[in-house]
Amino acid sequence: MPRMGDQRWSCQSCTRCCRDLVVHLFEQDRERIDKHGWRDRLQVAPYVRLGRGWVLNKREDGACVFLDENGLCSIHVQQGADAKPFACRLYPFSVRPVRQGWQVSLRLDCPSAAASKGESLDRAGGWLGQLLNKHEMPHRFRKDSADFRRGLPATAEEIEALQTRLLRWVKDPSRSMNDKVVGAARLTTTLTEAKLEKIRGPRFAELLDLLSSALPTEIASQPQPPHSRQRGMLRQLAFAHAEHLNLAQMRAGLVTQWHHRWRQLRYARRFRKGVGLVPRPPNATRDPTFADVESVSPARDQIQEIESLLLRYVLGRLTGQSVFGEGYYGWPILTGLPALWLSIATAGWWARYHAAADDRPVISLADVATAIGMVDRAASRLPILGAMPERIRINYLLRDDGVARLVCAYAFLDDTK
Ligand code: SF4
Repeated sequence: MPRMGDQRWSCQSCTRCCRDLVVHLFEQDRERIDKHGWRDRLQVAPYVRLGRGWVLNKREDGACVFLDENGLCSIHVQQGADAKPFACRLYPFSVRPVRQGWQVSLRLDCPSAAASKGESLDRAGGWLGQLLNKHEMPHRFRKDSADFRRGLPATAEEIEALQTRLLRWVKDPSRSMNDKVVGAARLTTTLTEAKLEKIRGPRFAELLDLLSSALPTEIASQPQPPHSRQRGMLRQLAFAHAEHLNLAQMRAGLVTQWHHRWRQLRYARRFRKGVGLVPRPPNATRDPTFADVESVSPARDQIQEIESLLLRYVLGRLTGQSVFGEGYYGWPILTGLPALWLSIATAGWWARYHAAADDRPVISLADVATAIGMVDRAASRLPILGAMPERIRINYLLRDDGVARLVCAYAFLDDTK
């Protein structure tokens, strides 16, 4: 299980996942649906083809065909929770095979998870284990090793040493989340510049201790504002996080169609330039300009709640092992870690976007929750984020204190108050 501090979760039946997500089915799921005659009862196909697999069908408004007029799942109401498809029972958790079993992650795109409502996360481990056993999930473990950088494998002890220092730093309650992320970003940048091939094993742990002890001094010097190229790259990263297709678009093979690619390319260019209206992402109602987004100020209220959400996001990613290696597109540690810190700046940009789209001059907790949900949902799931251009972008932003600059420029909270 991820170790996310005081994280809680219980389903609040908001139905967001029943509307937003595409639910992939196992053969057992389809057999159960067929056995109970749902095709006749619904008068519509309960599941449809998507590529080589099958997914739950959707209505025109995007809702799952099983969602009834009372906002409840028909399978759950009529046959009980155990009869629901595996993916519906698992969400908002996701699992990945690791050497000793399954690594669980909690997805913060579920509003209840983002707001930390319900039972302590510790209680979920038992029923998740039963669910995995019952469904006989194929355990296709590949490897749990990772490279520092290409061609320089890290040992399990070195990964553990790095993770321990980072966790200790981000959990320290005496510092703001912004300082923690800036410090962690600078530590990561220093590691990318170090000759790690010569600093291995215990010496690597010593280096980490040395760098960790220097972090309070590191964060004392505030990063400069990012220059225009760094901002442009951050906006492109923000655009990449927003790619979201609904089921109808996926089935139509939109992602492979030239006009979709052409439009994405044009939008990516507009994000890089940062001039004029922001191309509208899915579910947005109003188009703010890029200048409107930049003019939004950090949050002033519900500071503790925002700090808690950011901390839970970072802890979830670090302890859920979804930052590098098999947990993150097979990326090396020293590319995956900066991607994590940059995802926070990306969320800061999207939180500003949501405030600007709502004509508000200041970020709210709801903006932060939406933005963190978006980056958390995208991380390790959107193929575009694992592509070569993203790695090149991240390597560029590692130079000239770019990561720390962007984290500060798009901070959720104003540390100077
Ligand atoms: S999004 Fe979360 S709270 Fe809402 S119905 Fe799905 S699991 Fe429940």
